[in-house]
Amino acid sequence: MALHPSALPPEITVFERGWLSSNNVLFTGARSGTALVDTGYCTHGGQTVALVRSALDGRPLERILNTHLHSDHCGGNAALQEAWPGVHTAIPPGQAALVRDWDPYALSYTPTGQDCPRFRCDGVLQPGTEVLLGDRPWQVHAAPGHDPHSIILFEPQERLLISADALWENGFGVVFPELDGEDAFAAVADTLDLIERLAPRTVIPGHGPLFHDAPRALEAARRRLDGFVQNPLKHTQYAAKVLLKYKLLEWQRIRMADLRAWTLATPHFRTMHQRHFGGQDFDAWLQGLAQDLVRSGAARHEGDWLVNL
Ligand SMILES: [Zn+2]
Repeated sequence: MALHPSALPPEITVFERGWLSSNNVLFTGARSGTALVDTGYCTHGGQTVALVRSALDGRPLERILNTHLHSDHCGGNAALQEAWPGVHTAIPPGQAALVRDWDPYALSYTPTGQDCPRFRCDGVLQPGTEVLLGDRPWQVHAAPGHDPHSIILFEPQERLLISADALWENGFGVVFPELDGEDAFAAVADTLDLIERLAPRTVIPGHGPLFHDAPRALEAARRRLDGFVQNPLKHTQYAAKVLLKYKLLEWQRIRMADLRAWTLATPHFRTMHQRHFGGQDFDAWLQGLAQDLVRSGAARHEGDWLVNL
């Protein structure tokens, strides 16, 4: 029987989190057992364990799957592995060696100035294969762009898509390879084309509420991407603001002097400034970014503090 289009099958629970943590998708299945897709940011680790524990009602968490290894998608892995030591953790291929040897620079945590406690990986999610979640086969698709290693998961019968940061209701995640000077806007476009071909009826994004109008979201995402392609500077400025706001979400409030010290110690800020805003004094650029956050209602100044809103 087909489900009402706005309903999720009962074996799927979506924990919609704030922006600091990605959404988490919990699966229960009589045959396939329990599994969690993406685990949030580390500072919310205790909350993530509590949410999962309460929803599983005494059953253990058996599997963790990560769509990609950004700190807001796998930052809860360590806490969950501690709570359920037998849990099997699968990540996209391409970074398994970096996780085994734990390279926080190559795994993006040092360049973004974000934290992620070391975790164990036990297997990979190979694009072109299927994984059983909630007793249904889900297709694993490569979805490069936002992150070169990201995967998305698609269930063809109900046409459910776990889109990670490749597609949100209003946009998509920062195109991180571009910050390192690698061309990745074309990969973003290809991934949007892939999602269009999959024609999902329900999209569970990495952030924000689930949505049904994928064509509208795709159109908005393509418009946004076109703007970035026309003017890459716009993307860099957007990325800098996102990274700043993200850290402010973690800190809640920070002295401008401490913010300056953090940005100077955070490689992405140095390279973004050097590559695109080198003609501008670093402090003036940073002040301008903070001012943009204030103007858009994302923060406010309180004396020499910048406060999250
Ligand atoms: Zn991400």
